[in-house]
Amino acid sequence: MPRSFYRLSNLLQTSIRRTKHTMSEQQQRKLELIQNITDVKAAMATVPHHQKARLVAVSKYKPAEDLMHVYETGHRHFGENYVQELVEKSTKLPSDIQWHFIGHLQSNKCKTVAAIPNLFAVETVDSIKKADTLNKACISCERKEPLRVFVQVNTSREEAKSGVDPESCTQVCQHIQANCPQLTLQGLMTIGMFGRDPSETNPDFECLVDCKKKTESMMPGTDLELSMGMSGDYLQALKAGSTNIRVGTTIFGARPKK
Ligand SMILES: *Cc1c(COP(=O)(O)O)cnc(C)c1O
Repeated sequence: MPRSFYRLSNLLQTSIRRTKHTMSEQQQRKLELIQNITDVKAAMATVPHHQKARLVAVSKYKPAEDLMHVYETGHRHFGENYVQELVEKSTKLPSDIQWHFIGHLQSNKCKTVAAIPNLFAVETVDSIKKADTLNKACISCERKEPLRVFVQVNTSREEAKSGVDPESCTQVCQHIQANCPQLTLQGLMTIGMFGRDPSETNPDFECLVDCKKKTESMMPGTDLELSMGMSGDYLQALKAGSTNIRVGTTIFGARPKK
């Protein structure tokens, strides 16, 4: 598996080098994106047990054409941070895309988000109240299938970051299981502190793994996914047990500063 990815990656590099001067900008961009996502998948394949992990291509601020190029490689999971941008892209792009909402979720936007039929998951449920609001939103927009949710945990305990405290994680999960029939508790998610040394064990990943263990021990029969790892540390996250990595910059390139 890894071997074939590398062969493809090398083939792409060679053909891009040979033909770049005759290609349009759009064609060059397409090949660049194919190269990038192939490289990420090749890197993922070097991690034992990676097969279970899902790659979410984080496409915030990137034009629909970029997403289409990645879509055409067979990729289906995309992540967006802003409700308006997600709504626009989900209307424009193919309906078999599986969208992940990974931005801060405001209560007054829950209905808009829940109404997107091909929304795969909301990864940023950060309180019991938000879970209730989202559950109600699913009812009022008559969502056909229960909506997968991840409970966001503020593993680095930073003021500026959303998410429940690691100590409250189990309680929020239990609440969703017991009181939110329109939601499916899919797992836990963390962003973590920026600039951690990727060569050392990451305390955010360790903390999320710990939250998973504690919560599962209190909720027999539950198997929680772990959404952790971004461009700078997704391999490390996979090694730590991530089942859902969210990669933006490494696939789409740098984003414009807000
Ligand atoms: C933007 C974003 C990502 C992707 O970050 P990169 O470092 O560009 O890979 C992942 N997760 C969340 C929650 C984000 O907001």
